[in-house]
Amino acid sequence: MTTQAREGAPAVKSMEKIVSLCRRRGFLFQSSEIYGGLNGFWDYGPMGVELKRNIKEAWWYDMVTSHNELVAPPGAPAPYQMVGVDTTIIMHPQVWKVSGHYDLFHDMMVDCRETKRRYRYDQVVGRWVEYQGRRVFVTVDGEGPTVEQDLLQRALKFFNLRSKQADQLHWDGPVQPLSSVEDRSLVLGPDAKEPGTLTEPREFNLMFKTYVGALAGEENAAFLRPETAQGIFVNFKNVLDSTRVKIPFGIAQVGKSFRNEITPRHFTFRSREFEQMEIEFFCHPEQSQAWYQYWRNRRFAWYVSLGLASDRLRLREHGPEELSHYSTGTADIEYAFPFLPPGKFGELEGIAHRGDFDLRSHMEGKLDPSTRPLQVELGPDGKPRWRGSGKDLSYRDETTGERYVPHVVEPSAGADRAALAFLCEAYDEDQAPDDKGKMQSRTVMRFHPRLAPIKVAVFPLVKKEGMVEIARDIYAQLKKHTTCFYDEKGAVGRRYRRQDEVGTPFCITVDGQTLDDRTVTIRDRDTLQQQRVPIDQCWDVIQQRLRSPEQ
Ligand code: ATP
Repeated sequence: MTTQAREGAPAVKSMEKIVSLCRRRGFLFQSSEIYGGLNGFWDYGPMGVELKRNIKEAWWYDMVTSHNELVAPPGAPAPYQMVGVDTTIIMHPQVWKVSGHYDLFHDMMVDCRETKRRYRYDQVVGRWVEYQGRRVFVTVDGEGPTVEQDLLQRALKFFNLRSKQADQLHWDGPVQPLSSVEDRSLVLGPDAKEPGTLTEPREFNLMFKTYVGALAGEENAAFLRPETAQGIFVNFKNVLDSTRVKIPFGIAQVGKSFRNEITPRHFTFRSREFEQMEIEFFCHPEQSQAWYQYWRNRRFAWYVSLGLASDRLRLREHGPEELSHYSTGTADIEYAFPFLPPGKFGELEGIAHRGDFDLRSHMEGKLDPSTRPLQVELGPDGKPRWRGSGKDLSYRDETTGERYVPHVVEPSAGADRAALAFLCEAYDEDQAPDDKGKMQSRTVMRFHPRLAPIKVAVFPLVKKEGMVEIARDIYAQLKKHTTCFYDEKGAVGRRYRRQDEVGTPFCITVDGQTLDDRTVTIRDRDTLQQQRVPIDQCWDVIQQRLRSPEQ
């Protein structure tokens, strides 16, 4: 993206400013805000819904619609096919038993007996501090950019000291996780007044439970899906039988997922209801490493092509200790969100080599034996009850006759985290001339044109006869192609600013010259250059510039 309008260093990305802009300009609102909001749930406003739709559509278009199955894309080991599905949020409960989510999908939490607050065990961090012979481990919930400062405030408050007395505190050792402390009676909980109120860690399953039908008994219990992936696995055979796909091929799905996160936080980053964009890519076991390499590189390049700067974006390969027992490779695409401490990154997408674990589990009902012993239910005959589907989910290669259970590479992305990263990346402040040519500071969202909620705005320079009619006519024509906004109120400079704030890449202005020669100016949000173009060429010019390298 061009940033010629900027003078000096790029603006520091402040989460506070980004959140405020999101609210002010209709990107994101708290869910049920008039009732005080609901923690972990977010609504997308008129601008946000367009941004998120553009992200999901770009993903679907680039991964599925425009995929050419006749040639191997650069870096791919072979040509491959891509199809999509849209499966239900509530599935047969057995799916979650077999996938391992019922028994294993949990976080460790600790409760505070004093405040009744609940925390994720792995997110509470603290530091030893001593004052006048009393030593406590002060804690805060989550490691933000101001963690040291937050701990200091906690300690001052606890010991009843003023800020200027801070040097009387004796700190001991670095910031460390709660799990490093054995004696809980010395731990001051993140919101507690006295030490010793945090419970021992307990497991907390992240799946939302509901009941299907009129009976609320356990036999009617069901779960809101915590990932879209299982809907793909259980339809593997249906897709094979109903289409002519052959391995290697991928099945894509975009849809809502739900996780009862213990501590939702960081705006939409950790929500309880969110959308995922997932691909399960099925391939021959011997080819799977090559496909894994392909997908991790391809997915990383996708974010870059849509404007995420590579110094804030990274691809991190998991170490052996982080891998699930069935995975021979997992990489995360991560972004340095402004709410994280410097040098820390948050996950946007995980690309995992999952072997044949999922399909085999749905065939045979195996749980993850390395993590936990099988919780086998016995049937009436005293033998373990069959928990897989019992269906044959293997694949037969028609050419070679070979039968095998395919291996899977799974690129699993979050649409909301992507939207948040694109919002953070787009936010900028710079100087731009106002109506009188005087430089004024402006806030500008430098979205990639493909993702911008509004692609083009149309203004008559002044509300003068002739100009208004032409501008309305251009607006009506462009509306047939793309999201277009019409504005005739106030000084044109202010109208430009309002569009800059929501990231509209192009503004068309009808001015005096238009009346003479039927040309208009197209103003570029980033370079501030104005290009004069005949009215009937406007759409062609804009269309060219809306494209990204993936298209
Ligand atoms: P985390 O470690 O941050 O909880 P995860 O490793 O559990 O994430 P996955 O199960 O791999 O996440 O889910 C795939 C993607 O779904 C993530 O990369 C993320 O973009 C998105 N995602 C997962 N949990 C949430 C959430 N609570 N809120 C928003 N997006 C989420």
